[in-house]
Amino acid sequence: MPELKKDLYDVTIMGSGPAGLTAALYAARADLEPVLFEGPQPGGQLTITTDVENFPGFPDGIMGPELMDKMRAQASRFGMENHISLIADVDVSERPFKITLDDGTTFKSHTLIVASGASARLLGLESEELLMGHGVSTCATCDGYFFRDDELVIVGGGDSAMEEATFLTKFASKVTVVHRRDELRASAIMAQRALDNPKVEFVWNSEVEEILGTKETGVQGVKLLNNKTGEESELSCQGVFVAIGHIPNTSVLEGKLDMNEDGYIKTQPDSSHTSVPGIFAVGDVQDYTYRQAITAAGSGCKGAIDAERYLEEIHAG
Ligand code: NAP
Repeated sequence: MPELKKDLYDVTIMGSGPAGLTAALYAARADLEPVLFEGPQPGGQLTITTDVENFPGFPDGIMGPELMDKMRAQASRFGMENHISLIADVDVSERPFKITLDDGTTFKSHTLIVASGASARLLGLESEELLMGHGVSTCATCDGYFFRDDELVIVGGGDSAMEEATFLTKFASKVTVVHRRDELRASAIMAQRALDNPKVEFVWNSEVEEILGTKETGVQGVKLLNNKTGEESELSCQGVFVAIGHIPNTSVLEGKLDMNEDGYIKTQPDSSHTSVPGIFAVGDVQDYTYRQAITAAGSGCKGAIDAERYLEEIHAG
């Protein structure tokens, strides 16, 4: 059971990726003494990647978990209170909001910054878990650069898979899209771009049964099952990109805030304000377009500034 320092906070932050920790840094430096709950994956999606080479300020790159440790230490230095606990409920009918943790602890908060992120949908294979960050990736923008002249497999048939397949051909010698049906879900234009690319090949009606390799060797191939013929085969590759969609982590807030049909929280244009005054959403939980650590961090900064302005208004009124 976390030992909370207060019964009533000005700022509560849900989530500890770049968005949540940047919101905490800004709120702490504004003397708002924020409390942050780290959730099921402390540090967020960057903790399942290895080298991060596209976060400005690190000319030699930095390991994802180390970057998140540094962000946490920076926010702590200015007084962030953080706990590894899940927020189980937020009562938005009361002001201040009543927040309940999964162990039943309750407290109140004038504002809530939701930074709970989105999780990449995974295939659910043991070998995928084992080799994540060792040749298996869920982000072509982040990791494509590591696969120069390699042969890659990308799983999925939506816009993300087509966009990433096309992007990966900048580095890879060949990209094979493995899709479970014989028809793409992607929009016609994105699909055509991939279909027309001479470096992209398609394997239809097929599912990845296993990713071959070890942490030491990295990915060496995939075992495929053709779900129409039942035929099994192996395809050699050095990297596997899983692009089968994302799931925003918003179930706790379902029915309480306006969300789009995929569960992403709607924010007002150019701000982090949600449909409930006093609740702000930042990072991937409201962004299905950019999904980068740096855009999430920038969004977290906006959330803290929006919360600070909101608090000035309610404390003045
Ligand atoms: P998506 O549209 O939901 O497509 C997911 C794909 O993964 C589908 O082809 C699906 O197969 C496949 N899939 C799902 N679960 C699977 C599993 N367990 N095993 C194997 N395959 C599986 O997701 P998305 O491509 O990430 O796109 C999400 C949203 O973002 C969409 O609205 C998309 O238009 C948008 N987006 C836009 C752009 C852009 O405009 N630049 C770029 C990226 C994404 P089935 O087809 O058989 O269901």
